[in-house]
Amino acid sequence: MLTVYPWQMNQWQHLQHVIKHDRLPHALLLTGADGIGLNDFAIHVVADLLCESRGDKESPCGACKGCHLRQAGNHPDLFLIGLEEKSKQISVEQVRDLIEFMTLKSHAGGYKIAVINPAEAMNRSAANTLLKTLEEPPPQSLLLLLSHRPALLPVTIRSRCQCLVFNGSKSTETIRWLAEQLGETVVDPVLLLSLTGGVPLQAKALIEDGGLECRKMVLADLQTLQRKQADPVKVAERWKEHGTAETLHWLTELIIDMVRLKLTGETSRLTNQDVTDHLQRLIKTLDLKQLVDSHDLAQNNWHQVSGPFNLNSLGLLEEMATHWLNLGIANGE
Ligand SMILES: [Zn+2]
Repeated sequence: MLTVYPWQMNQWQHLQHVIKHDRLPHALLLTGADGIGLNDFAIHVVADLLCESRGDKESPCGACKGCHLRQAGNHPDLFLIGLEEKSKQISVEQVRDLIEFMTLKSHAGGYKIAVINPAEAMNRSAANTLLKTLEEPPPQSLLLLLSHRPALLPVTIRSRCQCLVFNGSKSTETIRWLAEQLGETVVDPVLLLSLTGGVPLQAKALIEDGGLECRKMVLADLQTLQRKQADPVKVAERWKEHGTAETLHWLTELIIDMVRLKLTGETSRLTNQDVTDHLQRLIKTLDLKQLVDSHDLAQNNWHQVSGPFNLNSLGLLEEMATHWLNLGIANGE
């Protein structure tokens, strides 16, 4: 059963409205953070437009020929392009195939839909090739572009699409949805949304993928390092096991909160609301400059491991752990 997520309702209703009044644009750019559910939303739009009972309450019905073909993954009026195996770019050949598809007549007599995901992966010539189709779209066609990083798309592409932006949400409906997903888990859904900037599928993954456990470990290690009760090399090895990027992400997030706390003393605006006491203890003997430097180091190392180069990730983690250990020593902890 397909459902539109509660935080996507406004965008969904907007689309239903324009479809009903025959004002659906030829190109839609869906943007939002990874984990906001862009792909699921696109699937829903596609399913609705290809269902033969479109317009009925029960669309997509799941029972008509259009629905069956789509479910089987071979609806002749739907064309998807994305990253092919081992490739980091969408090629001009892929876009040419898509354009050829768009110019053909619809099999079912309805919409022809093409999806490009992730749209920012189109290389320059692929984007240029697409531009023509965006300028002169075939009738009854819809191009759906999905992007978590729309700033990487050429302005010429962005300006020819109608943009649907999906922002993070901490609404009552979103909190309820997340609570239902978590089932028996005792973790507060509000905290999970706070930790992920209101991105619900990421929030859910924090429990499922052990992200929350990783944060707990990092926090505990910062405490023992500061007390000089841990070996930074061993700590770094443990961090690497949990994932270098993830560890550095939590280090950055926790230290940002420490900076906030040092600056204002206020706890209400912290992201890591549930560990305020621990953060208070950690910053007691540290000054603002030490915290800002630590944040810069964590963020810089995080950018390095997220970048295209194959860096010595263990070295970056060791640097971070040793840095924190030395903060404790410098202050005679
Ligand atoms: Zn149907």
